[in-house]
Amino acid sequence: MGFDPERVRGEFPILSRRIGDRPLVYLDSAASAQKPEAVIQAMTDLMRHSYANVHRGLHTLANETTELYENARKKIGAFIGAPETEIVFTRGATEALNLVAAGLGRDLSEGDEVVLTEMEHHANIVPWHFLREQKGVVLRFAPLLPDGALDMEALEGLISPRTRVVSVVHMSNVLGTVNPIRRIAALARAAGAVMVVDACQSVVHARLDVRDLDADFVAFSGHKLYGPTGIGVLWGRADRLAALPPWQGGGEMIDRVDFDRITYAEPPLRFEAGTPPIVEAVGLGAAVDWLSSLDRDAIHAHEAALYERAREGVASINGLRILGEAEGKGAVLSFTLEGAHAHDIAQLLDRYGVAVRAGTHCAEPLMRRLGVSSSVRASFALYNTAQEVDAFLEALDRTRTFFL
Ligand code: PMP
Repeated sequence: MGFDPERVRGEFPILSRRIGDRPLVYLDSAASAQKPEAVIQAMTDLMRHSYANVHRGLHTLANETTELYENARKKIGAFIGAPETEIVFTRGATEALNLVAAGLGRDLSEGDEVVLTEMEHHANIVPWHFLREQKGVVLRFAPLLPDGALDMEALEGLISPRTRVVSVVHMSNVLGTVNPIRRIAALARAAGAVMVVDACQSVVHARLDVRDLDADFVAFSGHKLYGPTGIGVLWGRADRLAALPPWQGGGEMIDRVDFDRITYAEPPLRFEAGTPPIVEAVGLGAAVDWLSSLDRDAIHAHEAALYERAREGVASINGLRILGEAEGKGAVLSFTLEGAHAHDIAQLLDRYGVAVRAGTHCAEPLMRRLGVSSSVRASFALYNTAQEVDAFLEALDRTRTFFL
């Protein structure tokens, strides 16, 4: 089918913006991606034509909105190879991971172990720290190899009969490393542990099939996937979801409530207390429809080429250190520059219209392990072009002169 980034760019109204007198070069999609017209349209259409609360109405608008909301669930299920009954809508990946940790945590006790990796985002660290604080659960962090790949041998050594949960990021938001989830899931299974995957970054860049991953839970956000903020997804294998206690209490998540007893709805509604993010769910449904209409293999190749162009461009810069060069890594380029603070670099790049992220990227333990306090991250999306990579390299070159 092929892929034409120039044509696709035209579908993103914001990309024609200027920053001062420069065209916007948006290289911050790993933090949040821009939205195509199809998503904006689906959300405004809903609010203009059908909007009402879901599930509890007997009127036309309520029924139409419920159908659109539940259709979005079906679309997202199809997008990751799962039935809609296994798709829980959350506020984002962070909430999805908190939901899983709190639910699994109920059955954990002192000395039980949770295995994570040193490259996790805070969203996949802090909820497990809660269990360490509350229950005395022991957290074990699998180390990395010098190129930023996961040390699989060390990880294997950490998994034991005491391991109750293994929770791993699929693609690191800092290093770009793509972890071999199937292999890790097999290790978890052999130890009788639950396998959780943070697929926030990976779901954007390559086709993701939850059955192929062979995990128990997979979490991701809508806003990195060209959808809106305020919506995320927790996929759980049916039996695992059924075994999970409710997350928040309120309307819609119950079967019956009385003064002295309560029974809960079946998943996924059991985990969707209160009015859900209706417009956002429909927006995410539109985003996966839109993405599925494109050639995702060609997109993957396009993004990999952009990354390679950027990597080659910075390789010869004195004092520049790239964080993460594992084979098969995704399209994020994190780096430090000797003598320059990451925030200063990002602010100077902004003068040239180039938007990048700088800081710890919500991965403080990783930064500590790498021996850096912060880094700059340029992340590449399907709408970026080779010319934009060149504009970034040129701006970086000019920026460098401030620090010489
Ligand atoms: N995990 C990873 C790998 C991420 O990149 C992010 C977003 N930066 C999250 C989790 C958290 O996602 P959200 O903030 O959308 O809940």
